[in-house]
Amino acid sequence: TDPLFQEAIPVLGQIESHGYEAYFVGGCVRDTLLNKKINDIDIASSARPEEVEAMFPITFDVGKEHGTIVVVVDKAPYEITTFRTEGDYTDFRRPDQVNFVRNLREDTLRRDFTINAMAFDRHGKLYDYHGGVKDLNDHLIRCVGNAQERFLEDALRMMRAIRFASQLGFEIEEESFKAIQTLKANLQHISIERIRIEFSKFLLGDSFADKAQLLVNTGLADYLLGFTQALVETVMTELSKDFKNIHNTLRDERLVWARMLKHMGIIQPETIRSFLKEWTHSNAFIKDVIQMIQLFDYFKEEQITSWEVYNYDYSNVQLVEDFLFETQFLDHKFVDDIYNALPIKSKKDIAVNGKDVMTILNLNKGGPEIGAWLDKIERLIIEMELENTYSMIEAYIKNSGSID
Ligand code: ATP
Ligand code: MG
Repeated sequence: TDPLFQEAIPVLGQIESHGYEAYFVGGCVRDTLLNKKINDIDIASSARPEEVEAMFPITFDVGKEHGTIVVVVDKAPYEITTFRTEGDYTDFRRPDQVNFVRNLREDTLRRDFTINAMAFDRHGKLYDYHGGVKDLNDHLIRCVGNAQERFLEDALRMMRAIRFASQLGFEIEEESFKAIQTLKANLQHISIERIRIEFSKFLLGDSFADKAQLLVNTGLADYLLGFTQALVETVMTELSKDFKNIHNTLRDERLVWARMLKHMGIIQPETIRSFLKEWTHSNAFIKDVIQMIQLFDYFKEEQITSWEVYNYDYSNVQLVEDFLFETQFLDHKFVDDIYNALPIKSKKDIAVNGKDVMTILNLNKGGPEIGAWLDKIERLIIEMELENTYSMIEAYIKNSGSID
């Protein structure tokens, strides 16, 4: 078994020693049965949140009203969620309230898919109330119980169905698939952020190339912000070509979004920014995507010079080069050579600073021209037109006289 489980066994032991039940649940059980590496460990327990808090010295309230407490044991965090059923769903989203229950079986009834509704106890005994093992073997994503009811309760599950299909290479079972086609419009009620998390996982799935048209076939494509069926169909075709046979290390969320936007024709920085903002991406994410989209063009026209290599985040430059190399757009890699030959890697490496420029110019106070001089010098150094030494830079400034 996975060492992550071994380390977590004492956590279950601690809960049980207080007279409660505790199990490993959800993704970690599924991935173990598939012989896949597990991401994180989720624990379900009969103990109430306050009871969990009382048992562990270090705890965080991450959603007590929904029953979830994070405990830290040997520096590792574990999410412990009290067995619960879900109350009324009035708006196709998360339930208005949850009801804590005392047994595992009832808890599994609120879970989305049979393959996600299994549990292990501390000894590795499997609890599978809904035929999850059979569906794992048959490669099926099937709702727990009635598919329409499940998707009516929480419309996000429709996006989760296609993301697991893409991650696992499974088919969506027929009833569940039809229910999505029927209820797809309810996706409108789900927050963009929650959709985005599932959408990104879908795009990054190991079987994405095979499952790329699921958004179209289910009809969910029409309910993705800024997309239409027709657009999704062409964009997913292009994207699946991009990421077919591609090395795992290149399955990077920013790179995938950058390729997607490029195929959508969203390539102007301001348009990229507003599109990604609406999709609730962070500013750091947006910055990288903009850089990558620009870098595609620099590489394409073989116009990438030391100036771009210097100015763009080097990790983005390398990722784009690796991607273009893997997709056989480039026949050899060359940016490492350019990067290693850069006389300076950042402004801090310039042999003069602002104070030095003032001394050279006999100024006793700073002003905007200091920065302008440094920008000019930086560019000349990168373009190998000026040697990065104090004396050469001093001579250059004195000879030029003024900055414009
Ligand atoms: P991953 O490996 O991506 O974390 P996961 O299966 O652990 O996959 P999570 O989103 O972490 O997925 O959810 C943990 C578990 O909680 C799921 O396996 C499932 O049992 C349950 N779950 C999560 N979201 C929902 C939902 N929207 N509806 C019903 N059950 C859900
Ligand atoms: Mg998980």
